[in-house]
Amino acid sequence: MVTKVTSSQLLAVIEDICDTIEEQKNYLSELDGAIGDGDHGVNMAKCFREIRKRLPESQGQDAGSILKNVGMMVLNSVGGAMGALYGTLFLRLAQQASGKTELELSDLVAMFQAAEKGVREIGKAEVGDKTMLDTLAPAVKALEQAAQAGSSLTEALADFEAAARRGMESTRDLVAKVGRASRLGERTLGHQDAGATSCYFILRAFARGLNAPSM
Ligand code: ADP
Ligand code: MG
Repeated sequence: MVTKVTSSQLLAVIEDICDTIEEQKNYLSELDGAIGDGDHGVNMAKCFREIRKRLPESQGQDAGSILKNVGMMVLNSVGGAMGALYGTLFLRLAQQASGKTELELSDLVAMFQAAEKGVREIGKAEVGDKTMLDTLAPAVKALEQAAQAGSSLTEALADFEAAARRGMESTRDLVAKVGRASRLGERTLGHQDAGATSCYFILRAFARGLNAPSM
């Protein structure tokens, strides 16, 4: 049974995020185009392409350093609202993983709790405002609950992924309260939020990569 996550698994997670963002670039921009300015996929893909190129430099580093490298690049180069939000997410994950070469479920809980707190501080959004937080918050709650219930890492990550997906899907039936889309008010109903969707792809990469057998 898998109980710990290694740095090489974490590198595979980052690679998965980069590949998925590239694959889903047009979809993310289409979602943003319906209720925003249509740049979300492009904003994200530009930065994650660069992160992928530089990933070999993180080979052999501890989890904290790997995540810090990603966070700094996202903070400095993702355009639009998401640079600060996703930059903070990765940097808070990094802080909690500082110096660790292996991560246990309790570490992942602390990491994602800190990341959610950071996103809330920076974005000042609440659950239900139709943002990435609608994906992140329920996923973190599911991870906490799984850990409390004594679930295995595998079960906890499956719950994390499922809650993230439901959270993403929930944005379809919400009216945007913050960010660019909030200007459209009720007209945002029926559209899935772009940031909630990219956040799902990111969390899914963690869930499936950390569950994969160690290399
Ligand atoms: P911009 O709105 O500047 O064009 P993007 O298109 O890259 O930026 O990102 C839009 C996404 O940002 C939205 O779909 C939403 O999920 C997220 N977002 C916007 N404002 C906030 C906020 N205050 N807190 C959390 N997420 C937010
Ligand atoms: Mg946009």
